[in-house]
Amino acid sequence: MSVDPNIKTKPPKLMRAIREAMAGTESVQERLNDFVAAISKAMRVKVASIYLLRPGEDLELSATQGLKKSAVHKTRMKPGEGLVGHVALTARPLNLADAPSHPLFSYRPETGEDPYNSFLGVPILRGGRVLGVLVVQSKKARSFNEEEVEDLLTVAMVLAEIIVDDERVGGKKGALKGISLAPVKPETVQGKSFAGGLVEGHAYLHMPPVAPANMLADNIAAEEIRLEEGVSTLRASVDAMVSGDTAKLSRASKDIYETYRMFAYDRKWVGRLREAVHSGLTAEAAVERVRNEHRARLMKSKDPYLRARLHDLEDLANRLLRALSGESLGPGNKNISDDAIIFAREIGPAELLDYDRDKLRGIVLEEGSASSHTAIICRAIGIPLIGRAEGVLDLIETGDPVLLDGEDGVAYIRPLDTQLAGFHMRMNIAGEMSRAYEEMKFTPAKTIDGRHVSLQLNAGLLVDLPQLDQAGADGIGLFRTEFQFMVSEFMPRLKEQTELYRKAIEAAGQRPVTFRTLDLGGDKILPYMDPVPEENPAIGWRAIRIALDRPGLMRYQLRALVAAGAGRHLKVMFPMVATVDEFIEARALFDREVERAKKLGHELPQKIEVGVMLETPSLAWQVMSVCDHADFVSVGANDLMQFFFAADRDNARVSDRYDPLHPAAVSILKFIADGCLRNDVPVSVCGAIAGRPLEAITLVAMGYDQLSMPVTGIGPVKAAILKLDAEKLRKKLEPHITINSRLSTLRDIVREFCLEEGIPV
Ligand code: PEP
Ligand code: MG
Repeated sequence: MSVDPNIKTKPPKLMRAIREAMAGTESVQERLNDFVAAISKAMRVKVASIYLLRPGEDLELSATQGLKKSAVHKTRMKPGEGLVGHVALTARPLNLADAPSHPLFSYRPETGEDPYNSFLGVPILRGGRVLGVLVVQSKKARSFNEEEVEDLLTVAMVLAEIIVDDERVGGKKGALKGISLAPVKPETVQGKSFAGGLVEGHAYLHMPPVAPANMLADNIAAEEIRLEEGVSTLRASVDAMVSGDTAKLSRASKDIYETYRMFAYDRKWVGRLREAVHSGLTAEAAVERVRNEHRARLMKSKDPYLRARLHDLEDLANRLLRALSGESLGPGNKNISDDAIIFAREIGPAELLDYDRDKLRGIVLEEGSASSHTAIICRAIGIPLIGRAEGVLDLIETGDPVLLDGEDGVAYIRPLDTQLAGFHMRMNIAGEMSRAYEEMKFTPAKTIDGRHVSLQLNAGLLVDLPQLDQAGADGIGLFRTEFQFMVSEFMPRLKEQTELYRKAIEAAGQRPVTFRTLDLGGDKILPYMDPVPEENPAIGWRAIRIALDRPGLMRYQLRALVAAGAGRHLKVMFPMVATVDEFIEARALFDREVERAKKLGHELPQKIEVGVMLETPSLAWQVMSVCDHADFVSVGANDLMQFFFAADRDNARVSDRYDPLHPAAVSILKFIADGCLRNDVPVSVCGAIAGRPLEAITLVAMGYDQLSMPVTGIGPVKAAILKLDAEKLRKKLEPHITINSRLSTLRDIVREFCLEEGIPV
């Protein structure tokens, strides 16, 4: 990349003046005074003033050169009020030749600002938040030129660091005490619980922003070269992601990377970075400044599309900062503390599994959804996950102490002692509960009216297998075979697949293991396969649809399953089947593999059962017919509910809009159970609802005798079942499960029943 040969190497005069003003060791108030004096002198303006946001959101005149000193700490305005308030509200510079004639101008006699006509105000931004406004004014009615605007923006950025620095040390250095700017205070963030558990640990930012260590450039030309090199590295890495070169990085959807690429090549973005460097910032500080400007603007946007773009830009800025520091451009380095709580905007299942499981205590996401695969993995490995913790990344820094309440979806950041004490108490109680669950590990889950319920585990990786015994599960009701494919950098070979399946069967001993064939597509993208861009991936080319169109991969997998099941009981099921014909076709593929093994003289499984996952409403309406062909039915309630309510399980805005205990949902679940039981075909539920006590007992009341769930569900569900009179609950619910029901959920009725019956939920 070529560098502008006209670029000056020396920082502008204003920057030099600011550097001098920063050099002193005075109190922050004195430094602010020096700042405004330096600005006024270097820019040749009569007035330079700093307004800072105070708690309660008032802007306060905090230092001035040119206005009356007696107005300092007295003149106040609300964001949006007057020209200064307008700059704070819009987070954009305001450059006026004739300020008094502007409709928003509000005259403050105590400041003595009447003789000044021109006005240039810029926001003081940090982390996308407006901390205050920096203003210069002069008598002459003139517009400030572009370079002056740039310079003032740069100064504002330096100023932001000083202010925050003061706040970090408790405001002791000066008069800035009490300004709520930097994340140092205790914060309670309410999100949604996507995986339960109570943990204590320290924050780790998944994509840590790199703080610009040195903000002011010594040599502008050298910084420009660094910036251009950084941008080249960034573009190369984004190109590699889009083309799938970087296997590890290409796990997220290509769409995101395409957007990254668009931004990485965006001339305006790079142009803004160059301007910032020209104004005297280091390349790192320039990235930070432009990011702040974007954040401040986009954070105000109500448009979810624009807000999502903000995240893309943020990630890109982080990557650029890391490129500048010579770091790798992969996800955050994995040097985490022993009790790490990961904070991220969103995290993919494979990225999550990159972290050292022994050190990982919990996850907090700004986005996320309850039935995403990340959530499924968290539940499987037993760590709490809080999602939709809006704005949490603005409040946290790596190393902050955190209490994570995965039960109620709350994160306590830098907790107070009182919160700590209460939390420890709850942790102790939870510990006692899990000891109680431990004690009932060998007790069969039998209802008080004599129904035996098989409680099985959802699994998918080797690490899940010890949980079978730890939780006292009755088998593996859902083995998600795609997880092995998702966490590998290369397609697992036949031998590797066979080995994993064999280990799972061995770990289960006499207990059944139900393997679900590859369920790819949707949010499950393989690092080494080019995803096919689709408008609606959840209802697109996924799972059985891929398998039937391109049978090679599935036949290979079925071969591995048949081999792993040699001499044992082998249970296989197919996901996302929408018609009976699809199931028949898939089963025929399986039969061919069995035939092949027979012909080759391989040992065959002792017993084979081939089942179907019922995940589409269409298959529910063919339940009688599918029972003629399938050996068992497993209801994939996560998908079934998303299709039933037409609410994308991966879309945070709609994923929990509908209650799976809505009478309509319970009615379809009952319809399926009735159909299977009438045909004498075993039926189970393996979606997330099977692991939640209220939902689980409702399922039992509807006739389900097999539930497969994350490990954390087994104890609480068993405790509830042991106190359940299933027939009594069925009688209580049945009148409400009609097409005339006006209830929006049966949850309250079930909860009330539990209270009356002493069922712990
Ligand atoms: C389901 O859809 O309920 C299910 C168990 O499968 P998955 O969550 O893997 O799609
Ligand atoms: Mg599913």
